[in-house]
Amino acid sequence: MKHAVVLGGAGFLGAHFVERMLGEGLRVTCVDNFVTGERDGLKRLVDDPRLDLVAADATEFLHVPGAVDFVVHLASPASPVDYLRMPIQTLKVGSVGTMNALGLARRKGARFLLASTSEVYGDPHVHPQPESYWGNVNPVGPRGVYDEAKRFGEAMTMAYRRSHGVNTGIMRIFNVYGPGMRPTDGRVVPTFLRQALTGDSLTVSGDGTQTRSFCYVDDLIEGAVRLLFTDLPGPINIGNPSEQTILDLAHDVIAATGSTSDIVFIERPEDDTTVRKPDISLARRELGWEPQIDSFEGMRRTAAWFRHELGLSEASSMSAARDS
Ligand code: NAD
Ligand code: UDP
Repeated sequence: MKHAVVLGGAGFLGAHFVERMLGEGLRVTCVDNFVTGERDGLKRLVDDPRLDLVAADATEFLHVPGAVDFVVHLASPASPVDYLRMPIQTLKVGSVGTMNALGLARRKGARFLLASTSEVYGDPHVHPQPESYWGNVNPVGPRGVYDEAKRFGEAMTMAYRRSHGVNTGIMRIFNVYGPGMRPTDGRVVPTFLRQALTGDSLTVSGDGTQTRSFCYVDDLIEGAVRLLFTDLPGPINIGNPSEQTILDLAHDVIAATGSTSDIVFIERPEDDTTVRKPDISLARRELGWEPQIDSFEGMRRTAAWFRHELGLSEASSMSAARDS
């Protein structure tokens, strides 16, 4: 039985990825220190004897007994709220953590996959962003701790490939959403959904004209798995090119939940990216991959999960919204 080690496997993407690996018939060792992930995220899987859950910090030496076929490095705070709260841990897991993960892959002769990010493009001067664009990142701004950690992680990955012959792959993930996100994680989709479902005002930053391109989690996992099961080095963008403004997203969330919440405008965070949209020509060509779930369906599924998570029935969440 093939064996995958998933670092950060208890997080939002990690739990989906681990479930998919088990579904593919693999044995999985999940390594997580639970700084942003929760044991509960894996609770539906823990009875599977093929899953080994190890509480450990990826910035410490990683010892995994036996053969390993795949090392997937998802460990890192990913929400701006989280990484601004943990700037040094974020830099460490993106740098030392990536080095440890690559070291493990090298020792085991495993295929390595790095979860990088569209943030490597920073506030882009090229739109949409192809993989060939080098980006526009402020290294000394508050978001630099995340963006530069990921850029370093990519450079380290390429160095292990070139110097040590490790079979590496890099995926650049654009904003993902879906069931399993913590309602208080701070990212925009869970924040807007929680606010809409509980009748609070939706907090749009700035004037809401900044854009993002949101990818439903099942699509992201499909792209990641396809890349994992090739020998392609990447980087490859995995994202949904359907770009929208944050203000439009707020209106869509209100419509999808039948909420009567209003919208308030809050201060725009420092260095908040102005536009973001993936060019996915490479993923289409090399992986035969493109997103299948449109934003209406994705939002419907995500809202249903949030209602359940917040203990709201469809009727009660709408009346909570109406009564507020
Ligand atoms: P998440 O915060 O839900 O999960 C991250 C997981 O990593 C958590 O379980 C956390 O406890 C774990 N972790 C953090 N530091 C660790 C350490 N030092 N040792 C062991 N475990 C550690 O985030 P996510 O949305 O699941 O993101 C997963 C990966 O994908 C991250 O690397 C992130 O940068 C990348 N990514 C995600 C998105 C997105 O929209 N979700 C976009 C771009 C890139
Ligand atoms: N945002 C917002 N209201 C919120 C949270 C986020 O308007 O309550 C905005 C944020 O300023 C950014 C966009 O939504 O313009 C996406 O933010 P997120 O934190 O989800 O991810 P990012 O792409 O910035 O890493």
